Amino acid sequence: MGITSYTIWGPKDSEDPENLKAPQLPSLWEQAKSVTKATVTHIMSGMEEVTPEERQRRMDICGGCEYLLKEENRCGKCLCFLGAKQRWASQSCPMGYWESNTEGSVGPVDGP
Ligand code: SF4
Repeated sequence: MGITSYTIWGPKDSEDPENLKAPQLPSLWEQAKSVTKATVTHIMSGMEEVTPEERQRRMDICGGCEYLLKEENRCGKCLCFLGAKQRWASQSCPMGYWESNTEGSVGPVDGP
């Protein structure tokens, strides 16, 4: 599972195992755009968070996903930080493995 996520961003034609040790993430600019988009969506939707049960369900799904960047706890598809993405009701999986869920959410949260 882990090696699959590394090959998403790694050199396509290289067979050098040194190149497979760390994920090759997109530029910091692309990462910043992705995180900013998720944050703005969260704020605009009222900053609702999901129930603990829904968060655990999302964590279980991501835990078995081929796109999981385990060491970074990030999604290799959308690049979001999963600690926040799984908590925020407005967020959804870019592959459709789980949807946004404002029903049953616990409401706005003041801080971490
Ligand atoms: S958000 Fe979706 S694509 Fe990303 S790691 Fe979780 S299940 Fe996989």
